[in-house]
This record gives sequence, structure tokens and C-alpha cells, in this order.
Amino acid sequence: MPEGDTVWNTAQLLGGALAGQTIRHSDFRVPALATVDLAGWRVRECASRGKHLLLRVEDPASGKALTLHSHLRMDGSWRIYGPGERWRGRPAHLIRVVLRTPGPVAVGFHLHELALVPTDREETLVGHLGPDLLGPADAPGGWDADEAVRRLRARPDGTIAEALLDQRCLAGLGTLYKAEVLFRRGVHPRTPVSTVDDLESMVDVAHRLINANRGRWTQATTGSTRRGEEVYVYGRAGSPCRRCGTAIRFDRLGDRVTYWCPSCQPAP
Ligand SMILES: [Zn+2]
Repeated sequence: MPEGDTVWNTAQLLGGALAGQTIRHSDFRVPALATVDLAGWRVRECASRGKHLLLRVEDPASGKALTLHSHLRMDGSWRIYGPGERWRGRPAHLIRVVLRTPGPVAVGFHLHELALVPTDREETLVGHLGPDLLGPADAPGGWDADEAVRRLRARPDGTIAEALLDQRCLAGLGTLYKAEVLFRRGVHPRTPVSTVDDLESMVDVAHRLINANRGRWTQATTGSTRRGEEVYVYGRAGSPCRRCGTAIRFDRLGDRVTYWCPSCQPAP
């Protein structure tokens, strides 16, 4: 499940492979960008902002800077292949973009919201986001716990489960971390934001859990990365709670799934 940490890792992967490389051939397989040609452009870096990826390129001749924006949603991914290597792993019809350099080839599968904007206009795409759980505190849109709490408090009537997923409040959480954070705090997903008594701790747990998984592809919130032990409640409907043994519940809230322990997280 691509959440902020997966997107952060992907930015490291792309930036590590492509930064400093000159694109020899680009192939965009989405209608809006079908005529774009980035041949000759140099890759500067790749950054993440919440669950958004920003691949920054520049034209050495003109100095013009562009940002290729992409979003992984449920199933998108970027893969890096060596020159001449077969593009294994995902079917070719899911390819949305190919960037070839003299060295690595970057292939984007099933990417969403692909857009190319001048780098100085990135905010038109990501400026609405709340503080980025994985962003440095000194970067634009970076982590700011007080601001995240303020934004959560600004929507008191909604449920805490929906508020944690609202990327305008804090950016980076998806359904896995949402469920795990609520379990760790003993808060039922349907609790109205206005009655959660310690939003500061909620935000702090979210920040710690997601950052603990930065730099690895396993998402663990229990302290164990062993298969089957990684999480407390997410994806464990019907299984016994790791703390109290009660069967974990599962339900839809809006269009998103949520998991909780009815004993550890009593209904509001
Ligand atoms: Zn329990």
C-alpha cells in the first residue's frame, strides 16, 4: 500500500538512479503528455511531498526547469532498470512513462495525475497539502506538528479516521497508518475530531510510526518486521487483538476501509 513512506522511498530510488543523468529519450503514454519530449534534459533531483512525487529536470541550454508530478495511489510504481535489462515485474500495458538515460531507465507503471509544470509552479499541484510527515521541518510544506494539529482542529465535526486521511491536514498517511495510529492511541475511528482529547499525541505517533519505516519497503508498526507480525489491526479483521485477544473489526467509513479493536478502542 503506497503511503508516504513508500513514496519517500521511491523518491530516493529515482533520485539516486537519475540525478545528474541526461535523458536520452522520453516516452509519455498518457494523452495529455503524449507530445512531450524531454530528450537532452538533465535530471536534477526527485522529492516527495506527502504522497506526491516531484521529479525535477532542467534544460541545460535554456536553464528552464520543469517538474514531472506523479501519484502512486493504490497501485502505481516507478521501477529502475539497467541498460538493456528486461522490464520485469509489471505488465507493459500499465506503462505510463519511460525515461531513458545512457545508464538507468526509469519506467513508471500505472501512475496517476501525471503532469509537467514549471518547477517554480509546483505549489499549484501540492500547495494545498498539510505538513508533510516525511518532510524536513525547514523545507516548504515540511513537517510542522503544531500546524498539523491546528488543521485537524479546524474540522471538528468529521471523524478522526477521515481527518487523518485528509491530506490537507497532514500529508502522507493512508489507510494502514491511519488504522495503526488510532489503535496505538486507543481511539475509535468514528470519534469526532472535537472529542479527541490529545491530538498532539495522535500527530506525534503518526510522525514516529511513518518515519520508522523510512528507507525500507516493509511497513511495520509493532516493532517487528517479521511476516505476520508487522501491524496491530490493519488487514487483520477477525484475528485476535495482539493486546487483548478481542476479534479485530473491519468496516467502511466513507469510501475507505478501517480496522479497529472494539475493546482497546471503545466506541465514542
Ligand atoms: Zn484489543
